Amino acid sequence: MWDFETDPEFQRELDWIDAFVREAVEPLDHLLDSPYDLEDADVVRVIRPLQAQVRKRKLWACHLGPDLGGPGYGQVKLGLMNEILGRSRFAPLVFGCQAPDSGNGEILAHYGTEEHKEKYLKPLLENEIVSAFSMTEPHAGADPKMFKCKAERDGDEWVINGEKWFSSNARYATFLIAMVVTHPDAPPYNRLSMFIVPKDAPGVNILRNVGVGSEKRGHGSHGYIRYENVRVPAENLLGGEGQGFAVAQTRLGGGRIHHAMRTVGQIKKAFDMMCERVLSRETQGELLAHKQMVQEKIADTWMELEQFRLFVLQTAWKIDKYGDYLKVRKDISAIKALMPTVYYNAASRAAHLHGSLGVSNEMPFVNQVIGSLVMGLADGPTEVHKVTVARQLLREYQAHDGLFPRGHLLAERERAIKKYGHLIERDLEAEGWN
Ligand SMILES: Cc1cc2nc3c(=O)[nH]c(=O)nc-3n(C[C@H](O)[C@H](O)[C@H](O)COP(=O)(O)OP(=O)(O)OC[C@H]3O[C@@H](n4cnc5c(N)ncnc54)[C@H](O)[C@@H]3O)c2cc1C
Repeated sequence: MWDFETDPEFQRELDWIDAFVREAVEPLDHLLDSPYDLEDADVVRVIRPLQAQVRKRKLWACHLGPDLGGPGYGQVKLGLMNEILGRSRFAPLVFGCQAPDSGNGEILAHYGTEEHKEKYLKPLLENEIVSAFSMTEPHAGADPKMFKCKAERDGDEWVINGEKWFSSNARYATFLIAMVVTHPDAPPYNRLSMFIVPKDAPGVNILRNVGVGSEKRGHGSHGYIRYENVRVPAENLLGGEGQGFAVAQTRLGGGRIHHAMRTVGQIKKAFDMMCERVLSRETQGELLAHKQMVQEKIADTWMELEQFRLFVLQTAWKIDKYGDYLKVRKDISAIKALMPTVYYNAASRAAHLHGSLGVSNEMPFVNQVIGSLVMGLADGPTEVHKVTVARQLLREYQAHDGLFPRGHLLAERERAIKKYGHLIERDLEAEGWN
């Protein structure tokens, strides 16, 4: 059964979220620095009452099931919600579903001990603390098999040494989840393990906070970290020795589709602004909206947005159906690979149609273009995801033995003649095909 309707009861929630985000949350994007900076008294003062309203409405941490304090809405409803939240930097935090905490929370829920859950997961889910994920290294990102940062066992502890790059929000985090080499001689996919590392552990040194695009130096939030003889207790190992890849998949499946859902919100924002502008601006005696090359940009953007949005929602539906990210790996990789292009096209067309104003720092489009480039890298580069898609697709096919391929028109015609030739009066042989 196919059904593209949102049930009316949930639509009322979406309408509430839409109005709340527009009126109460989006203004924060223009006033405050990082939503993750819980040491910033202004951030805390403003977001706590908003979070209380979200909890009261039972919309807090909707990515989680009831066992972890969320309503367990599933991915389709979450997708529809995230389209709205994606418009604002602060909204995911106000609704308790921000990356990377949501993914890190999933790891802790799956692999953490009772003590980890008490010490890290609970306060994380309450947004009393935030966290970071520390995987990429300065010399290697897309290929984790090349990682060098290592942990060695010393009695009841592991000792971590090495460097990590672009650990987002490390500067604000209470703990990091770090993926490091523990078994250098094991097969490539069994070399890495995952650890909880308290940020205040001696030897966790943030060398600098890297920014993206035009962020001022030192104001970035992506930590370049040197781990120097960092000691963590043996029980901080998550998911077993050499299981780092498997543990990482727990967070990345959900993380990638949630990014895609929120990106739909950003694309829609650019599209709405683009439409309003071309209906408001005249040149050479007519509205921009009347010019066909402008109309083409409007049509292309909407068609790409609708395709992308439906693909994201269908993937969300499959996750709900199978309850297993691995079964929809191809779909998740496909939307991850599509996302930067659809986003880039929308943001750059919106900038272009706004003329000089569009590329100025008085409009959001240039930041959106940078955001689209980020989406092509964070959680893995586009190329790597396309390779996953192609590999998975090709598993559904088999090689053909014959000299000519199946579908060769001569063979097809021969088959058709065998089946229906006796009923056809036309001289098929004279047609010269065989
Ligand atoms: C804003 C932002 C936030 C991030 N946050 C985090 C975080 O919190 N934690 C974390 O650990 N990491 C984080 N990352 C890092 C991210 O995961 C890496 O950027 C990504 O995995 C790519 O690694 P790299 O940057 O080292 O690029 P490289 O591995 O050097 O790849 C560079 C380019 O090489 C090409 N390439 C790579 N592999 C292939 C291939 N198989 N086939 C064809 N071409 C290929 C692609 O064009 C790719 O973009 C973040 C990145 C960004 C931009």
